[in-house]
Amino acid sequence: MKGNKTTIDTLVVHAGREVDPSTGAVAPPLHLSTTFARGVDGELLGEHLYGRHGNPTRDRLETALAALEGAAAAAAFASGCAVAEALFTALRSGDRVIVSDDMYFGIRQLLRELGESFGVEVTALDLDDDAAVDRALAARPKLLLCESPTNPLLRVVDIAALAGRCHAQGTTLVVDNTLASPILQQPLTLGADFVMCSTTKFLSGHGDVLGGALLAADEAHPLWRRLAKLRKVTGASPSPFDCWLLLRSIATLSLRVHRQVDNAEALAAWLADQPGVEAVLYPGLASHPQHAIARRQMKRPGSMLSLLLAGGEAGARRFMARLELFTRATSLGSVHSLAEHRRAVEGPDSTTPDNLVRLSIGIEDLEDLRTDLARALEA
Ligand code: PLP
Repeated sequence: MKGNKTTIDTLVVHAGREVDPSTGAVAPPLHLSTTFARGVDGELLGEHLYGRHGNPTRDRLETALAALEGAAAAAAFASGCAVAEALFTALRSGDRVIVSDDMYFGIRQLLRELGESFGVEVTALDLDDDAAVDRALAARPKLLLCESPTNPLLRVVDIAALAGRCHAQGTTLVVDNTLASPILQQPLTLGADFVMCSTTKFLSGHGDVLGGALLAADEAHPLWRRLAKLRKVTGASPSPFDCWLLLRSIATLSLRVHRQVDNAEALAAWLADQPGVEAVLYPGLASHPQHAIARRQMKRPGSMLSLLLAGGEAGARRFMARLELFTRATSLGSVHSLAEHRRAVEGPDSTTPDNLVRLSIGIEDLEDLRTDLARALEA
């Protein structure tokens, strides 16, 4: 990239968006072709061969994603879960994996199923329990996969400290950066080996793209080399149009995320004082157990918050039913504010408290959001 385009607010606008050299087009071209022509001697005319292996629009997205996370390499996938699946299929039978005991329910389920199929042992741990983590690391697991902040309890992990302990045992640390986004946190700069994320969330930001990404600190990492090979022969490629939409969305990522955090900070502080709320789980509040870590490793505390409502499950359901501006829907990170009763979605295996409602705060007017929440909390 030419010029002084090194700060993240500039990178979101410019990375992967160089002027098209063949046409001068300023907006990134959308290449839909699934195949790429050869000349009379069989030589490829350009750099690409077949859509599953790569595509010029996907290349641009991967350039942008790598720049935002400070990564050596990026791979775009068809969803966040496809990234977790790819990581897992790159392991070998007999490998061990540690995960956090609070993480996105869908990936926890996926790891359990794939662990059984592939003979990979998956252990879920409270990553705040240093002694338990050290005991598990002593068995030299291949991977430790964690989120920070976690979904849905919004716990925060000290990424730099965890990276040090993992590396002392030869364990690869993968951090799911979905809830923070690279605007607020860059785990690779804190020592993680890989970042994964669901680009469906903040990077898309409009609730209209399903995608995922894996970012590597080092292209020579053996797991990255195996993944890159496997990605060519498996089918979790994102569509060129989704890559193009993501590139378009990334240009406003910083603006959206900061506005969402402005709203979330104000609402979290206000909600903490409301009689219908037993607790607000939000790393930006001084009452949060890992508030100091969040302040150290995140630029700002994010725009996801979970409420524990008075009145148990019935209280949570009544709150949900009264919302008018917040949309009752799963997912997060969009410009629209969303609310979800997680336990109802996670089903009978859920360990999420039954009075928990997860809020994804959008970019709407703060007072309109507060009015909606106040109405839903009325006795
Ligand atoms: N990681 C986290 C933290 C998530 O919250 C989700 C989905 O909610 C995923 C990964 C999976 O992403 P996707 O829905 O794009 O497969």
